Amino acid sequence: MLGLRAAVSYLRSMIHVVHHPDYVTPAPARSTYRWNKNGLIRDLLLERGEAVTWHCAEQTPTAWLEAVHDEDYVAEVLEARVPKEKERRIGFPVTPAVASRAAIVPQGTWLAACLALEHGFAANTAGGSHHALANTGAGFCVFNDLAVAAARLIDERRVARVLIVDCDVHQGDGTAALLAGRPEIATYSIHAEKNFPVRKARSTVDVPLADGIDDAAYLATLEVTLVPLLDEFRPELILYQAGVDPFAGDRLGRLSLTLDGLMRRERLVAGLAIARGVPIASTVGGGYGEDALAIAERHVAAIVTLGETFAAAGDAGSRIAALGAR
Ligand SMILES: [Zn+2]
Repeated sequence: MLGLRAAVSYLRSMIHVVHHPDYVTPAPARSTYRWNKNGLIRDLLLERGEAVTWHCAEQTPTAWLEAVHDEDYVAEVLEARVPKEKERRIGFPVTPAVASRAAIVPQGTWLAACLALEHGFAANTAGGSHHALANTGAGFCVFNDLAVAAARLIDERRVARVLIVDCDVHQGDGTAALLAGRPEIATYSIHAEKNFPVRKARSTVDVPLADGIDDAAYLATLEVTLVPLLDEFRPELILYQAGVDPFAGDRLGRLSLTLDGLMRRERLVAGLAIARGVPIASTVGGGYGEDALAIAERHVAAIVTLGETFAAAGDAGSRIAALGAR
């Protein structure tokens, strides 16, 4: 039997996680993208047993996709007939399995947001597809789940203002382009200036970084640029693209963060949100290299660190949940 104190801390350690079996897709032929990451993330989270509460994503209604993407492109993806030049831009062929996955992930990010409004924090085990544009995917992204979820949450009036915080090493160009002109949604991107995409879009706040920046400089820059936006925009929800590609060993990053630096980043972002009573829904994002297990471990460490920081906030956590229940 658990004592009352133990039971309370046990309940607080619950992390709400959104997943769907179709997130784990067999690799299409000719694809260099590593497809087993999401399955490994699921397995590592399953090992945490009852510390994780699982929620299943569903098919995203087509109208939600069409609220940010062009109707023609939505149809091309859903019918798995994306033209070759767009597939080249995406980086892999859009097979029926890839299309089915793409159609579920945005609903998963929206569901994580709804759970965050209830519990303070929740995570989607996929998503963060920040390069996808209105009429095409790009950079391993098919539909922009961050933009779809943010637009839907505003259209439903679940919240008045959403801030997308994108800490992937690549600029959140698709998210910025898709959401420009929506005053209820702000976008923040901190990224390696010389990295993909070559042509950057304009986020509400962009923080371009020099190659090779280390933990201390990264964290100081993140804090000094994110705090004013939080205090001016006063979001009621943060969608957090927690890409782990700023890691020093990442194949497509250009920065030099350690694993400890990445976890300090998660505690910093969570702490700033908690102090202002703002819930966070996180997605994964970039993380590239030969060792898929090591990359999945970094994503899971990020999810767990965010969840534990919210859990440790105790009363602040319940205040955030109460805020979300309005
Ligand atoms: Zn990236």
